[in-house]
Amino acid sequence: MTLALHNTMSRTVEPFRPLVPGRVTFYACGPTVYNYAHIGNFRTFLFEDLLHRWLVASGLEVFYIMNLTDVDDKTIKGAGAAGTPLREHVTQFIDAFHADRRYLRIRDASVYPRATEFIQPMIALVASLIDKGVAYRSEDGSVYFAIGKFPAYGRLSRLDTRELLAGASERVSTDEYAKDDARDFVLWKAARPEDEAVGAAWDAPFGRGRPGWHLECSAMALALIGEKFGVDVLDIHAGGVDLIFPHHEDEIAQSCAHTGQGEFARFWLHGEFMTLGGTKMSKRYGNFLTARDLAENGMDPGAVRLLVYNTHYRQALDWSDEALGHARVGSRRLGEFRDRVRAAPKGAESGALIEAIEAFRRDFKLALDDDLNSPRALAALFGLAREANRALDAGDHVGDNLLSCISLAEDVLDVFPTGTARLTGQSTVDDELTEEAPADRESRSAWAVGWAGRRFQARLARDYAEADRIRAMLESAGFEVRDTRDGVEVVARRQDG
Ligand SMILES: [Zn+2]
Repeated sequence: MTLALHNTMSRTVEPFRPLVPGRVTFYACGPTVYNYAHIGNFRTFLFEDLLHRWLVASGLEVFYIMNLTDVDDKTIKGAGAAGTPLREHVTQFIDAFHADRRYLRIRDASVYPRATEFIQPMIALVASLIDKGVAYRSEDGSVYFAIGKFPAYGRLSRLDTRELLAGASERVSTDEYAKDDARDFVLWKAARPEDEAVGAAWDAPFGRGRPGWHLECSAMALALIGEKFGVDVLDIHAGGVDLIFPHHEDEIAQSCAHTGQGEFARFWLHGEFMTLGGTKMSKRYGNFLTARDLAENGMDPGAVRLLVYNTHYRQALDWSDEALGHARVGSRRLGEFRDRVRAAPKGAESGALIEAIEAFRRDFKLALDDDLNSPRALAALFGLAREANRALDAGDHVGDNLLSCISLAEDVLDVFPTGTARLTGQSTVDDELTEEAPADRESRSAWAVGWAGRRFQARLARDYAEADRIRAMLESAGFEVRDTRDGVEVVARRQDG
């Protein structure tokens, strides 16, 4: 194992060795489901997707947890304004999050725990912290973590006491109740009428209330890895840089004070911001672009991924239409290369081609093993395309080696344009597609494949009414319709019974 990752805890790139050889527990802070996630959030999720995919491609078994924060000030406020129970209110944003990440080809995590489904482990964690004397109940019924009782506080963020105080007081507006120390953070918030109104309050031995945001992640991570593997330390914990303080610092304090372990995660990985015209992208500043804006404008997810992976995850990325335009051209070039390789005559690869393939395999692995250096991995891929195109121009044949390079790149970076070769290969020209299925078998299949392509386009554009209409049409013509990650497949139902 030669993978090395930058650990925020040590501020250095360290060789990555999981606690148990061959198996990785990986926790990433997921979205707060009160709104549509913006593309800056998705930059972080794409960095985590790359990490997830590279760990898997490196032969590791990965237990990947991404939580959904469905109870906090913002979700409660949204539910209250809509006059809907919290659980019902957030469903639309959870669905949207999954639709958006699927559009961006972000692979499924192993689990997506919802905070409201882990209230009991959260209550148990608070009770344990009170027992251990590191948490206290204040006059208003809320429970706080006593930072003064946890000497290791501040190790991850490396902030001194004065900075910690400044950071804490900046955030008091929503969390301010009676605290012993201004740095203390809330574990459990006493129930308010607005929480009760939307069903966001639970009974606990220390008083009726709801969990604080920091507590959610600790409780869910510990519950899940404890239940599955009997451990209480994560291999990797990831998130955006804005979560280092106070969120991750607080997660460490709660978790370690409870488990007695010296660490909560062995590696802390943080992705940098995405900026739009040089300003941090945030809902607060109103300059956000959502994944659905991109999907609605017909932007190919391969181009979005290429744009994101062109910058190392620890460097700020400035989003611009120009950069997206370049990424679109780059992704199309790779798509043409892929289609050309798949269509080329098969046979033994020449010496020059084998050399290019070996250089790609070596450079690609070296790049990603070096703290996920995706810009270098992309350069290796474009280098392969250049060399292999030259070899194909000279009449070279394509063998399994070159095909497996393309599969590897698809598996890990996935920056190729949406795969429609399978669909368009045998379809009739788009505008010749009739609503009525042709009678003869041959043109009937081509007709179905053509409509499958249109259903896929409709899904990408979120025109679900059109997608449904097409499905019904295909089904009544005797085809089974299957939606896959990168296309729509149609299979003729057996007519002869
Ligand atoms: Zn978290």
